[in-house]
Amino acid sequence: LPAFLVDGILLLDAGTIGSVLNLKAQSRIRDILITHAHLDHIKAIPFFADNLSTCGFYRTVSVRSTREILNILKENLFNGLVWPDFSKIPTTKKPAIRFEALFAEKAVQLVKHRVTAFSVDHKSPALAFLVENGKGKRVLYTGDTGPTERIWKVCSEKPLDAVIAEVTYPNRMSETAIQSGHLTPELLAWEMRKIRNASPIFLISHSKPLFLAEIKRELEMIERKGVEILQDGQVIDL
Ligand SMILES: [Zn+2]
Ligand SMILES: [Zn+2]
Repeated sequence: LPAFLVDGILLLDAGTIGSVLNLKAQSRIRDILITHAHLDHIKAIPFFADNLSTCGFYRTVSVRSTREILNILKENLFNGLVWPDFSKIPTTKKPAIRFEALFAEKAVQLVKHRVTAFSVDHKSPALAFLVENGKGKRVLYTGDTGPTERIWKVCSEKPLDAVIAEVTYPNRMSETAIQSGHLTPELLAWEMRKIRNASPIFLISHSKPLFLAEIKRELEMIERKGVEILQDGQVIDL
């Protein structure tokens, strides 16, 4: 499930945290950026918040997304029924998490990264994130999206080092992919052509386990270097 830790402190989506990171590594996280409210992208936040609040050496972690997406989390997950509201626990003064609203296409400076959110095309309101660090490295994380335009236009303006992209279905299921706001290897190849003046590496995730072998074969047929399927727990140096 999608969760990408950048420089040890910034987490892009939170499908899983504790299955890879020990408690010490978890306590270093300062910000979590949420692309959208689908369960596979937020599943670990409740247990992460619980871990933080009980371990005794936590700093309040900012959970960031648009107000619309954060409201979905507040109303349907941290509502005191499905899970306690950890934005008030252990204390309202120093809670485990804090919800912080982002605005599309308005960059924010976090501890070590500048982040800009862009709207993409998915079934639930969804974002992509452009992350830039102080050393000039730029990574785009698409989150979940079907064929889309804006992110590729913006990312053509300045070279990107890497794109973390989703490929959920194999080519034979392109109709399902488009209906549900996802990509196949062929659809991804079309998206790649929308980037001008740059050839970032593409790191692929979000493939349905049942189709992984098929998707892998189809990705190998894309005539482009630098396409790699990410493994659980893998570390990438840019
Ligand atoms: Zn989704
Ligand atoms: Zn998803």
